[in-house]
Amino acid sequence: MAVTHASRDAGNRPSGSHLNTGEGPTLLPLDIGHPAYMGLVDPDTAFWALVHKDRLADALEGGELLTSFHQKRASFQEEMQTLRFGLQPSAVYFNPTDRCNLDCSYCYIPQTMRRHGTEMSREKLLEALRLLQGHFAKTLPPSRRPRVIFHGAEPLLNKEALFAGIAAYNNEFDFGVQTNATLLDGEAVDFLTSRGVSIGLSLDGIRAETTHRTRKSWAGNLNVHAKVLEAMERLAGYPYYSVIVTVTRENASELPQMVEFLHERQVPNCLLNMTRCTLPAAREVRLADEEAATPFIAALERSHELFRQSGRKLVVANFANILLAILAPTARRLMCDISPCGGGRAFFALAANGDLFPCSEFIGLDSFRGGNLFAGGLDAALTSPAFHRVTGRTVETIDPCRRCAIRHFCGSPCPAEAHEMNGGMDRPGAFCAFYEEQTRYAFRLIADGIADDFLWDGWDDGVVTLFDKVGPLVTPEVSPP
Ligand code: SF4
Ligand code: SF4
Repeated sequence: MAVTHASRDAGNRPSGSHLNTGEGPTLLPLDIGHPAYMGLVDPDTAFWALVHKDRLADALEGGELLTSFHQKRASFQEEMQTLRFGLQPSAVYFNPTDRCNLDCSYCYIPQTMRRHGTEMSREKLLEALRLLQGHFAKTLPPSRRPRVIFHGAEPLLNKEALFAGIAAYNNEFDFGVQTNATLLDGEAVDFLTSRGVSIGLSLDGIRAETTHRTRKSWAGNLNVHAKVLEAMERLAGYPYYSVIVTVTRENASELPQMVEFLHERQVPNCLLNMTRCTLPAAREVRLADEEAATPFIAALERSHELFRQSGRKLVVANFANILLAILAPTARRLMCDISPCGGGRAFFALAANGDLFPCSEFIGLDSFRGGNLFAGGLDAALTSPAFHRVTGRTVETIDPCRRCAIRHFCGSPCPAEAHEMNGGMDRPGAFCAFYEEQTRYAFRLIADGIADDFLWDGWDDGVVTLFDKVGPLVTPEVSPP
């Protein structure tokens, strides 16, 4: 056997002809838990192939897989480089108030801010939108409308200023509102839906008892669950709304029922987000890393059964994003699962006093304040050392992520968690085991040919297949933003 290999490989082959040596491709085997297929992943470019286990040795010895990889490698690298380092900010998470009428267990905004914080005046809010518009006019192509997502604390506590801003700038920005929904009355819904504003609301359980374990008013006397359900009834049939479920140990066992509940109410999109662990209170309700995947995958399976039965999808957007990270990296819609994450480079956050942070997750952490929109301006904040700490955090500098085959499907989020919970930006964030399992599950769906069932219809319109002989790797035909 050794003689055969020696004679076959004796020619003067250039560096790069062989796997995992010299200039050759680095393809790491990935056990995806499938009975028939293994993954092969190039961690640097996020190129991958699914190979039948019986043909693994053949694939690794050369042939079509390696030839095609060589042909496409430069474009994979360029695509990943642009996605990771070539974006311009195109969205703002805009907090028009620091205050909130709720006291949720896992909130990333400190309690004192939520109780006694600042509220932006109508005049200041309009000035902020004018300044943002001026910035984006310089940095984005005319065809690209920037997004402003009013975020919390609870933005509808400052409804008059917020609605004035939307009315004045609805042609300049795509607006969204992320709300706890307790103030989303008929008038607010009419105003927002008539202007096509996307609306995200939060609900943690199918029963009040579950929701109120984590989402409660300060005095505990508001029926938050009932209020959210009323708002959902008002929004029924509106295509631009979604429900965020924050997954904690208080509701994890009910996730499949939660999916049923949302599907029954014809919610178009949901997110099943593991709670961020930036502040200590959130860590008290978080699931352990290794506990998170089982209820999450059970909920995805239930959503698939419901789709097969009814023909109607409830897309779990955060999982769909992992699928897109694998199938079409630049088509991903959320920017936590890539390194550096989107904070400070794809978007940034504006606090009610005009302070600028790389992401809402850092509001309340003064050392990550990059500047102020009204004093010093946005350009200075975007290039500030505070922003650079986040935009410069790459998986290649984090142990064990630097050795991880799926590092560009995970991104080692979140820098705020890494800093506050784990002691530094060079540490992983939370939920490593969860990312491993959901990535393996995503590959199994791809191997079984059912990944589309978990994605938005039409997600691949305008997408071209770059490499589909041994494993589909596709990339959208879009200009870099
Ligand atoms: S957090 Fe875990 S899964 Fe994610 S890149 Fe790091 S080692 Fe890999
Ligand atoms: S990973 Fe964390 S800091 Fe980065 S965009 Fe997501 S929530 Fe924000």
